[in-house]
Amino acid sequence: MFHSRLQKIKQKGAFRELPIIEHQGKYIIRDGKTMLNVSSNDYLGLAGSDSLREEFKEYVHPEKETFSASSARLLTGNYSIYNELEAYLAGFYEREEALLFNSGYHANVGILPALTSPSSLILADKLVHASIIDGISLSRAKTIRYRHNDCEQLERLLRENASKHDLVFVVTESIFSMDGDVCDLQQLVSMKKKFPNVVLYVDEAHAVGVRGNAGRGVCEEQQVLREIDILVGTFGKALASVGAFAVTSRELKEMMINSVRSFIFTTALPPVNVCWSKFIMEKIPFMTEKRRQLRLLQQYVSEQLPGKKIHSHIFPFLIGDSEKSIVISEQLKKMGYYALPVRPPTVPEGTARIRISLTAGLTREEIKPFLEALQTVEN
Ligand SMILES: *Cc1c(COP(=O)(O)O)cnc(C)c1O
Repeated sequence: MFHSRLQKIKQKGAFRELPIIEHQGKYIIRDGKTMLNVSSNDYLGLAGSDSLREEFKEYVHPEKETFSASSARLLTGNYSIYNELEAYLAGFYEREEALLFNSGYHANVGILPALTSPSSLILADKLVHASIIDGISLSRAKTIRYRHNDCEQLERLLRENASKHDLVFVVTESIFSMDGDVCDLQQLVSMKKKFPNVVLYVDEAHAVGVRGNAGRGVCEEQQVLREIDILVGTFGKALASVGAFAVTSRELKEMMINSVRSFIFTTALPPVNVCWSKFIMEKIPFMTEKRRQLRLLQQYVSEQLPGKKIHSHIFPFLIGDSEKSIVISEQLKKMGYYALPVRPPTVPEGTARIRISLTAGLTREEIKPFLEALQTVEN
C-alpha cells in the first residue's frame, strides 16, 4: 500500500533505517567494526561514565524514585523529585520558575500552540528544529520564518507587524543543531526591548552544560539570562539523561501547566530518570574543566581547518547531494569514524552534510587523523 511512497523516498536518497549498533564508551561497533563516534550529542562525555553511575547509586532512593510515575503530574504522578529539580533549576538560572517536560520535543511541540492565539504572531528563524516547526503548525498564530540569524530582517518584521498582534513570539536556537553557529542573543534582547509585546523563546538544547561559566548555556555566556522569557534546555544531550525544562516566569509556568497539551496529557518521566537528571545538573556548574577541554578541542579543529568557520563544538561538513553524503559517510566508516550524514528534510534541500560533533571525551590525537580523513574524502 505504501510501496510507491517508500520507493520515492529511496529514489531521493532519503531512506532511513535503524542502525544496529553497540556502544563502547566513545566508540560505536557496527557490523563487527569499531569506529570512533564523532556524531555524538554526549558533549561532555558523561553518558558512559562508570564513576558517575556508581556515585548515583548512593544518591538515588529506588523505593522513592521509582521506575514509573504511572500518571500525568496533574493527576497522581507528581513525585517530589520533579519539584526539587524545578526548584534547583529556577535557582541555578536565577529565575522565578522552571517546568519539566518529558523531552525537548514535548516542550517545543506544546508551548507555542498553548501560548499563542489566532491574533498572535510567531517569528521563527528559518533553521529552527523540527520540534519547533511542529509546534508552529499546531498553533493558529500567523507565522513568518526569517532568514537564518538575520537580525535586520527580524527587526523590520517586528516594526511592520508587532503592533498588529496581541503577542509576538520570537523563536530561535542558541547553538543551531545542524550548523553549529550561534545566535546573537544580545541583539535579539535589545530588539525585544523596543516592542512591549514580544516574548523571546530560546532553545538551548545544544548549549546547556556546554556554554557559559556555570554551564547554563549561551544565554549565560552572552549575559542575557534574565531577558529570556522562555529558555528551553534538554537533558538528553550534554546532560546524558532524558527530558527537558523551560526556565520562565511564574505567570508563564502557570499558563504552561494549564494549557500545554504535551505536558498535561502524558505520563510524567520515571522519577528515577528525573533523579539522575538532578544528580547530573547539580554537578554541571563544577564541570568547568570538561567545558574547557571541549573548547580547546574546538579551537584545535578551527586551527586545523582554516578554511572553515567553526562556531561551536558542532560543525557541518557540507556535501549538498543526499546520495553523496551517504557515500562519504560510508567511506569515513571504512576509515574507522562513525560520522553520520544529515539529509533533507532534516536540513534544507541541497544541503546534505556530515554533521560532526565534538565531545569532551575526544582527544586531539583522535581528532587529528579524523580531520585528515575528512580532507581525503573531500577531494
Ligand atoms: C534534540 C533537540 C530537541 C529535542 O530534544 P529531545 O529531548 O531530544 O526531544 C529540541 N530542540 C533542539 C534544537 C534539539 O537539537
